[in-house]
Amino acid sequence: KNKGINEIRKVFLDFFESKDHLVRPSFSLIPQDDNSLLLINSGMAPLKPFFSGTRTPPQKRMATSQKCIRTGDIENVGKTSRHATFFEMMGNFSFGDYFKKEAIRWSWEFSKDHLQMQEDKIWASVYFEDDEAYDIWKNDIGLPEERIVRLGKEDNFWEIGVGPCGPCSELYYDRGIQFGCDDPKCQPGCDCDRFVEYWNLVFTQFNKNEEGEYTPLPNPNIDTGMGLERVACILQDVNSIFEIDGMKMILDEVCRITGVSYGADSEQDVSLRIITDHIRSVTFMITDGILPSNEGRGYVLRRLLRRASRHGKLLGIEKTFLYELMEIVVNKFHYGYPELEEKKDMIKKVILLEEQKFGETIHQGTEILNSMIEGLKNENKKELSGLQAFRLYDTYGFPLDLTKEILEEKGLTINEDHFKEQMNLQKERARAARSQNDVAGWKEDPLAALEEIPETSFIGYETLECESKIL
Ligand code: ATP
Ligand code: MG
Ligand code: MG
Ligand code: MG
Repeated sequence: KNKGINEIRKVFLDFFESKDHLVRPSFSLIPQDDNSLLLINSGMAPLKPFFSGTRTPPQKRMATSQKCIRTGDIENVGKTSRHATFFEMMGNFSFGDYFKKEAIRWSWEFSKDHLQMQEDKIWASVYFEDDEAYDIWKNDIGLPEERIVRLGKEDNFWEIGVGPCGPCSELYYDRGIQFGCDDPKCQPGCDCDRFVEYWNLVFTQFNKNEEGEYTPLPNPNIDTGMGLERVACILQDVNSIFEIDGMKMILDEVCRITGVSYGADSEQDVSLRIITDHIRSVTFMITDGILPSNEGRGYVLRRLLRRASRHGKLLGIEKTFLYELMEIVVNKFHYGYPELEEKKDMIKKVILLEEQKFGETIHQGTEILNSMIEGLKNENKKELSGLQAFRLYDTYGFPLDLTKEILEEKGLTINEDHFKEQMNLQKERARAARSQNDVAGWKEDPLAALEEIPETSFIGYETLECESKIL
């Protein structure tokens, strides 16, 4: 019998608990005390202070299954079989404790004996200079050399600017030539859907300084990440992560609501998968306390909601529907995430309100955009002006990315710099308007007035004392 996502998650956490790891539930999608990141995008991200040494970990070994959002993958979603904007990353971590040997051995043992993956379908990649990892795969594990590939920096070296960094070793599963591309040299690292990267082991063993020099860390770390949906896709032997348990129910519901059948038309399938993915992302984001807005995380949320809404329109849905779909997400995922059930009514309200807001203008906005596109064609131009894009944003609520995406579908672009200028001008206009209101003695935002009162220091007693003495 194939394992469902709840079982896979449990088997993973139990396995590493049996190897003395402290198991913790997923952290929020909102980073804590970390301004470098908008949303948590890996299992390691919320544990950064333990890796950098600014905080002491409760235990030197930990394991989690972490909720992640990767907006950088938004363009892949619906197009590949393996990318989502929201996914769960299972990970085991060592803070200066065990290193490569154990990390590799356990990844192999877990894949083979606990996930019962077909052994001869598993491949490994190592960083091309990392002979140590290569030798472990070859000699300790006994993986045939034909299934160990050496890859370059883009795939197999992890670093962000300066600081701790190191080589990676990834585990791939060969899903078969039916998922492959035409390249006769297709192998792990190829961008097609044949060799699915399901687990990444990061060996944080260096520190990179400002000069770009790498020095070995005295206590190297292990940080691994395994995509829950990808593992489920492999084990359940379905075509894509959108067809695994949990996801398939959402997909089916999208089909039911739209009356479109899955697999009938490839373009419509992309829209179906995008809606399936985005509704899951927004449900989890709102649960963690994010609300739609024009900035930061709220903007990411708005962008996902509006994008899903537009793909609904492409499939012919005129009414609001995302707020209903959310129920399936809650029903399917509350086992792992009970907070979904608790916040259900709130999530529903937030989604419906946003859908209604966008619903009022999307029709008009799309018509305006279409006529703008017509105009470009007539003038033989390829680029929409920033002012036009800004008008769509300001009047019709089209996030820039949405306009961009629609244009790209037609081989057109946008003048983004000019768009940003328009945004800044608008901000200035808003600021000027606020100070105008000051003059009239009326504030738009009553709390903003509080912020403007200079900080006061309490000097009352002293002053009074002095005064009374004088008196
Ligand atoms: P890919 O090369 O396929 O885009 P990645 O190298 O960017 O993946 P990592 O940063 O190594 O991914 O993340 C660790 C694991 O998380 C991956 O091996 C994969 O199983 C999973 N993963 C990464 N991105 C996604 C995504 N967008 N959707 C689902 N799972 C993902
Ligand atoms: Mg990626
Ligand atoms: Mg990769
Ligand atoms: Mg990777």
